[in-house]
Amino acid sequence: MRPDGRHSAIGFLEDRFEETDQGLGVSVVGNSKLMSGKRGIVMGVANDHSIAWGVATKLREAGAELAFTYQGEAFAKRVRPLAASLDSNLVLPCDVENDEDIDGLFDAVGKAWESLDFVVHAIAYSDKEELKGRYLDTTRDNFARTLSISCYSFTALAQRAQRLMTNGGSLITLTYLGAERVTPNYNVMGVAKAALESSVRYLAADLGAEGVRVNAISAGPMRTLAGSAIADARFVFGWTKRHAPLRRNVDLGEVGAAGLYLLSDLSKGVTGEVHYVDGGYHVIGIPSPNDLGDG
Ligand code: NAD
Repeated sequence: MRPDGRHSAIGFLEDRFEETDQGLGVSVVGNSKLMSGKRGIVMGVANDHSIAWGVATKLREAGAELAFTYQGEAFAKRVRPLAASLDSNLVLPCDVENDEDIDGLFDAVGKAWESLDFVVHAIAYSDKEELKGRYLDTTRDNFARTLSISCYSFTALAQRAQRLMTNGGSLITLTYLGAERVTPNYNVMGVAKAALESSVRYLAADLGAEGVRVNAISAGPMRTLAGSAIADARFVFGWTKRHAPLRRNVDLGEVGAAGLYLLSDLSKGVTGEVHYVDGGYHVIGIPSPNDLGDG
């Protein structure tokens, strides 16, 4: 409204939006404080190439307060200094195969913080010997273990996180195109990711009424510890770079920024989604002959 009490054309619209609260309350002008006052757990940092680390750095830049987990003492030595560099001293053990570890994590976080706003789940495991050759040869033991660590753990975390998300919240997990289509050597991990993507939809439906959102990022191939366990990773990296619409692979900052979007109020209306950060590779059916060269 103008000082003389009359509405200017634009002022009138602004007043109407304030009055009717059409959801324009989210500030999208600069995101430096997008996450200020928000607290969350980042799981899956093995080193500074980890996707979890890419998300953590973006979250911290935006003002979030972070807790980190590590799997076993060997990883603790790497995670502690990384966490400290993002002003976090809440660094807790959690092997997701172990329910006591998961309970212990959420007990500790509940004691340290009044409530929880987000969880980043960037965890996967399968026997390297079964990430090459045929899916057909998958063993029962490795099938169960791969699904337990790479898929069920997300549901186990959501169960505990929900109790602390008293003001609503957001959970994300990481997936890959091999969930939906066959990619070289992804094998049982593809089956686990398909189950993970499905669990994202079921969890979103279960938790939506409480204002808790659940989404996945389907990242293009990245040079990480887990990524290098899959046979022919170099071929997949090169193929994706050559045929993705953006003609390149994505980097940690780009995946991290998508994580920030899904964990912040910028995506307040989004849940149950698999969001691709893969340079557009997933839209390609048959690559252009011009891009195939001689091969
Ligand atoms: P990474 O090796 O850096 O991270 C994997 C993490 O999983 C490690 O921190 C490891 O400690 C953790 N982990 C494994 N078993 C665990 C257990 N039992 N308990 C607790 N933690 C455990 O590799 P990354 O590529 O950053 O992987 C993160 C996620 O991203 C995974 O879900 C992976 O499948 C997914 N992803 C990776 C790519 C890629 O090309 N690298 C692409 C798409 C999706």
